[in-house]
Amino acid sequence: MNTIESFKGRPAEFAGIDDTDLLSGSPAEIFGLLALDWRTILQRLDGDDAVAFDAFVHGSGQLQATTGNRVGTIVKDWAIEMGATHYAHWFQPLTGQAAEKHDAFLTLKYGKDGATSAIEELKGTLLVQGEPDASSFPSGGLRATHSARGYTLWDPKTPLFIRESGGARTLCIPCAYIGYTGHSLDHKTPLLRSLSALSKQGTRFLNLIGVAPAVEQVTANLGTEQEYFLIDQDHFDSRIDLVMTGRTLLGNKPSRNQQLEDHYFGVIPARVQAFMADAEEELYRLGVPVKTRHSEVAPCQFELAPIFESASIAVDHNVLTMEVLRRVAKEHGLVCLLHEKPFAGINGSGKHNNWSMATNFGENLLEPGTTPEQHKRFLAVLSVVLMALHRYAAVLRVTVASAGNDHRLGANEAPPPIISAYLGTAIDELVKSGMAGEAPVLRKAKVASITDTIDANFDATDRNRTAPFAFTGNKFEFRAVGSSDNCGWPMAVLNAAVAESFSELSDRLEAKLANQGREEAVTSLIQDVLTEVRSVCFEGDGYSTEWHEEAARRGLPILRNTPESLAVLLDPKLTDFLAKQNVLSHEELSARYEILAERYVKALEIEGLTMAEMATTAILPAVEAQLAISAGTARDCDKVGIQLGKGLRKRLESFAALADSVYNQTEALTGVLDTLHEGHDAAAIMATVAGSLIPAMSALRTTCDAAEAQIADDLWPIPKYVDMLFPSA
Ligand code: ADP
Ligand code: MG
Repeated sequence: MNTIESFKGRPAEFAGIDDTDLLSGSPAEIFGLLALDWRTILQRLDGDDAVAFDAFVHGSGQLQATTGNRVGTIVKDWAIEMGATHYAHWFQPLTGQAAEKHDAFLTLKYGKDGATSAIEELKGTLLVQGEPDASSFPSGGLRATHSARGYTLWDPKTPLFIRESGGARTLCIPCAYIGYTGHSLDHKTPLLRSLSALSKQGTRFLNLIGVAPAVEQVTANLGTEQEYFLIDQDHFDSRIDLVMTGRTLLGNKPSRNQQLEDHYFGVIPARVQAFMADAEEELYRLGVPVKTRHSEVAPCQFELAPIFESASIAVDHNVLTMEVLRRVAKEHGLVCLLHEKPFAGINGSGKHNNWSMATNFGENLLEPGTTPEQHKRFLAVLSVVLMALHRYAAVLRVTVASAGNDHRLGANEAPPPIISAYLGTAIDELVKSGMAGEAPVLRKAKVASITDTIDANFDATDRNRTAPFAFTGNKFEFRAVGSSDNCGWPMAVLNAAVAESFSELSDRLEAKLANQGREEAVTSLIQDVLTEVRSVCFEGDGYSTEWHEEAARRGLPILRNTPESLAVLLDPKLTDFLAKQNVLSHEELSARYEILAERYVKALEIEGLTMAEMATTAILPAVEAQLAISAGTARDCDKVGIQLGKGLRKRLESFAALADSVYNQTEALTGVLDTLHEGHDAAAIMATVAGSLIPAMSALRTTCDAAEAQIADDLWPIPKYVDMLFPSA
């Protein structure tokens, strides 16, 4: 029996129970059983070890060998009690997936007499730092092909966790990942750096505007709304486009799709509910506080959101959530699609990043408050955030650029590719009062009687679903993030942009304070800044063409797709703030450019190759089969003297023309693919992708989709949208 009584920090009722019981219980009982927080480790250390470990966690000291080994032993004992046999440094390279290499705790000790004994061990040095062979991870030129070294470094503030899969349990150690040159090659490093910058600059600004008591720390919080599709495993397996690219490259939307708006918040089907319950249970054990679940707009589309957490933990937890959703879906004979646009013509999937900042006293800095003083602090902080959005919009846009997200941004379902902020009427009025230098007044939320027995509390502002940055009560929602994205990248840039604005506005406030009183200086700073950055605010319909024209007039950057967006990373004028705030150096940024450009090209190249293969091996044979059947019918008619009508003759000709078009357009697509890498550099190759490859693919798709609409159902070689999106169970 695997007891856990020896481990402190477990709820008392779990002491001494066996391992099977450990896995069941109410959400609150099982919450976090498979996660280990640094505070729990600290409780198990005493004296100098505790002091040294606390300093290490807070970044003010290294772990020396003796303390490190004690910490390693505590971690190892806990992991073994929880049934783990191996440990792995778990990190987030720029591939988009988490990475890990497993090592057994098992070690051999050799006695003097040559006898060996097997023990389990985790040395401090192995907990704190790993050195995986990094040669196959993308480095964007920050490492020569022949040099392989990279380091994984434990991030002790994020909980360790135990992953269960295939009956095995592995201790995962969340890590940052850098190359031999010390440059970041991952999503976590810039995020952690951005959080330090935000805290430093935010603290300075808040204390300058005069908040009491004095602030010592500012943190960023994040709640991620994860959208996804679920389809049957058999349908998935029958379509190589889904298997290879995660999205359907062909297919007509069914006559009924989402126009009845009956899926959004609809009853969750029993099979999906069973999947959700299992996934949630696993996430509770991992300490991921999943809270909401519902059916989304498109058929077979769903959403899950956790309770918000500190941004770096929330990012790890979202990466884990995506992994658990995928794995548990398989156990239910389903496939979880995290692609931004699995099906053309119906809604894609995003991941709204709900972001706010809080002080070390837990006060939310985006809470408008109830008193004029609180409104004023809110307006000061809002000015900082709006300035960050206004100044660094182009770089924020890059963080959500990917081949998958290009299908959403700009289409009439996701925010447009123009970064603007929606504030809502009440906050907009507050901003106007700030611009006029008046005392801020916030309109009250309304309560209205609906029937004799039911009252409703109305929020002071409505929601706007067309804005990339929407203020929703006491947080901003960055709605442009893609469903498969690692949120570390957009959050790092947002935090850095806000840190830079805090820094600049602190300088400006200091200058004003030299000849003005604080009250007056803050009012005048708010007035100046809101007037400067007002053009980033937009309250209307972000989907409309008028907004695109208006945004262009206002000089807001409009970056329509990934190639246009990525170019921003090479412009030091636009990205200097990231280097200044010590979040990403220019070398790291140009490496990111190379990596993201390569990923974009590879994603589309794989799509092109897959499409050409499907067209040649599945679609064309189906069209030919239909042509043969119809031609045979015509011949038979002829034989028995039945005159074929004009309509049927046209139908026959159209099959012949379709077959010819599929063939020719596949040839054209293959031609583009063959010459794709003739471009001199990433920008030239991306231009060929956007200018030639994508048009060649959409031409072929149009023909294949026309064929699907005309060919006999039983000849069509792959599951149709209607099969995948309207399963019988
Ligand atoms: P919506 O109604 O916008 O779809 P959801 O309930 O689906 O809202 O998700 C809202 C997300 O915002 C949740 O993850 C929630 O925990 C998070 N959230 C709430 N308050 C804050 C805050 N102050 N800072 C960051 N995130 C927050
Ligand atoms: Mg939601």
